[in-house]
Formats: sequence, C-alpha cells, structure tokens
Amino acid sequence: MNFNQAVFEASFGTSSQLPVSDMPEICFAGRSNVGKSSLINKILNRKKLARVSGRPGKTITVNFYKLDSFRLVDLPGYGYAKISRAETERFSWLMESYFSTGRDIRFVFCLVDMRHKPSALDMQMFEFLQNGGFSFALLLTKSDKPNKTEYREMLNYFNEMDELRGTIKIPCSSQNGDGCEQIKELIETILQKEV
Ligand code: GDP
Repeated sequence: MNFNQAVFEASFGTSSQLPVSDMPEICFAGRSNVGKSSLINKILNRKKLARVSGRPGKTITVNFYKLDSFRLVDLPGYGYAKISRAETERFSWLMESYFSTGRDIRFVFCLVDMRHKPSALDMQMFEFLQNGGFSFALLLTKSDKPNKTEYREMLNYFNEMDELRGTIKIPCSSQNGDGCEQIKELIETILQKEV
C-alpha cells in the first residue's frame, strides 16, 4: 500500500457536500491542537498536506485525502473554547451526519495528547463510537514530549482505563516518527479484512 501519494480531495463544512462514499474511509479525530494535522502529514509523508497551526481553533471542516485504496478523513477538531455556540452546533451536526449516513467507515483513530488525561469531550467521543459500533484505536500523541517516567505513568494510566479496555493504544509522535509504522500497518490490516 502506498501512503506517499495522497491527494487532497476536498474540505467540507456542511454534510450535504460530503462526497459519495465509494471507498473505505479511515478517520482521524481529536481535540483541537492534539497534533492531528502534523500526524496526518507524517503518515502521508508530506510536509503541508494537512494544515498545521500554532494556534488551535481552525475552521470546522471534514477534510478528505484520497489514496489508492481508501480515503483518509480528517474530522474537525473539537474542544476549542473560543468558538461560538453556532459553531459548536455546526460541529455536532457535521459529525453526526458524517457518522450516520451509511458511509463505509472502517476505522477511527482517536487522538489524545499523551501528557494529559482524556477530557470530557474525549470521553464523549469514545462513548459515541462505542455506542455506534465503530472500531477505533487510541493514538497517544506527542510521545516525544514526556520523560521516561511520565511516559510510563501515562501509558499505564491509559492501559488501565476501564472505558478503553481492549482498545489498541499507540504512542506516537510526528516529531520523531514514533508509532507511525504501527499506525500504517494497522491501516493495512484493517483494509485487508473482509467486511
Ligand atoms: P491539530 O490542531 O490537532 O491539527 O494540531 P497540529 O498538528 O496543528 O499541532 C498543534 C501543535 O502541536 C503545533 O505547534 C505542532 O507543532 C505541535 N505538535 C504536533 N505534533 C507534535 C509531536 O508529535 N510532538 C511535538 N513535540 N509537538 C507536536
């Protein structure tokens, strides 16, 4: 599978614009500033395919990247405090319609900053996916940041969370590439599975 030839397809702000789901989709979700754009760029081996910002709170859109046999879907970042109520509502509506319109969603990667415990919104996301019967794994981002002790402590913390029992957890870093091969291998395994 070639991860190096992704093409940015489109960015959508309303669900009626979403492209026809004619390929398997692998999604990336997480709160704003968790490192989602950086990780997508790293996995796709590109510098600026997904936008990386120093400031959280980018526009609420679903972004599609087309590869040879699947679409990588960059879901809107959540949890940015400074957005209006109207934008929060648009976020919920966009996410709900993305997940509830019969798309070929094969897997969701939920990103959480490895240094912090999941927020209430992260927990809501896990619950939403579990209730909807979606398969997902947890990506523990920015794994280059904690020191060895913190790394071990946080990994234990995530491993022991009741809500995430049985969920695959992968520490990863777009800075040093930690976990990126494992993520790609997992994507390949998922796409090889019969559905
Ligand atoms: P997004 O809002 O989730 O798309 O997050 P970005 O990819 O825009 O990253 C947010 C900030 O975190 C930027 O300043 C990045 O440089 C930084 N960042 C992202 N990934 C990593 C990582 O793996 N390690 C470190 N140390 N910083 C990162």
